[in-house]
Amino acid sequence: MLHTVPAFDRIGEENAFAVLARATALAAQGRDIINLGIGQPDFKTPAHIVEAAIKALRDGHHGYTPATGLLATREAVVRRTLALTGVEVSPENVMIMPGGKPTMYAAIVMFGEPGAEILYPDPGFPIYRSMIEFTGATPVPIPIREENGFAFSAEETLALITPKTRLIILNSPANPTGGVTPRVEIEKLVKGLEKHPDVAIMSDEIYDVMTYDGEQQVSLLTFPEIRNRLIVLNGWSKTWAMTGWRMGWSIWADGLYEKVRKLAVNCWSCVNAPSQFAGIAAIDGPQDEVEAMMKAFDRRRKVVVDGLNRLPGVSCITPKGAFYAFPNIKETGWKAKPLASALLDKAGVALIGGPDFGVLGEGYIRLSYANSEENILKALDRIDTFLETELAPKAA
Ligand code: PLP
Repeated sequence: MLHTVPAFDRIGEENAFAVLARATALAAQGRDIINLGIGQPDFKTPAHIVEAAIKALRDGHHGYTPATGLLATREAVVRRTLALTGVEVSPENVMIMPGGKPTMYAAIVMFGEPGAEILYPDPGFPIYRSMIEFTGATPVPIPIREENGFAFSAEETLALITPKTRLIILNSPANPTGGVTPRVEIEKLVKGLEKHPDVAIMSDEIYDVMTYDGEQQVSLLTFPEIRNRLIVLNGWSKTWAMTGWRMGWSIWADGLYEKVRKLAVNCWSCVNAPSQFAGIAAIDGPQDEVEAMMKAFDRRRKVVVDGLNRLPGVSCITPKGAFYAFPNIKETGWKAKPLASALLDKAGVALIGGPDFGVLGEGYIRLSYANSEENILKALDRIDTFLETELAPKAA
């Protein structure tokens, strides 16, 4: 009998990957499946970015880079951060990471241990809670409410802080809700955090430019008073359709940077070199394809929200960011997870039940609109027929 440590039995899952596997298996059996489950853009990485990686390989960039990332890649992140937030960070605070998730992992293992509490959004990206539980720390959900437009509430967040709180995780624009937290709320939170100088903050800003209707992300970097305890997670995956490249970056407070650098040396040495050249091309190159992708997402967003609001028992507020809709399905009589699996099995539409993002996700489902308008319309039609004809099972 092998004795693995209990922490590994506490690791959770990202159900979007399980749904993708099931949808792919059904499609392989010849079923016509429309996938609105997965959180990755359905666009290709722009060609000039791909070319930069190929050139890097041809030019012989085959070796290790510094664990923190190439200076040129970190300087590209500095330029982008300045352009987007107006804040000039030092390349000595920038880590190039193998995707967005490793920053989550690093931040959570840095602060989580039995007896500690870590606040995280619920519903929210499922890996936050999973990794908190892995460390043995207590996960404390910050409720994310539909009536607040799925923004987090400063007051509710601050009220959850105790002497045991070590880290607060924030995410805006948010997965799975598409919620964008307004400046006033963030200002209130930062003001309230003055009273809790020993609490660190990890702000997951990966959907930074993915906003609509003139809405803008407010980066936590714009508050110098918390810079000494701030970690900002960001990356290439979403904005430049680079999920498979495993390229992320994060900006760490001075005292934390050396710790994460050492973790990188121990775990992954560095991010693969050609991808880091691609990352520079993504930041410095033309952004027309990003803009075109966002225009397409915006059109689809309207189609999805409009269609969802026509479905019996379904209502959906208009998401202001990311590429997800998070409709309320309470009036259908269905619980979210049985509905999601019945829609996949009987209607051929893959989407994710809200509880996969936390207990407060019950009563909601997540649709990713990273699919064509035509497929989205077809999926909405299928969901409509399903809801009109299939009665919800009676609650046990
Ligand atoms: N943070 C949020 C809020 C996300 O939605 C995702 C991916 O879905 C990530 C981080 C992880 O990104 P990556 O694929 O670069 O690890």
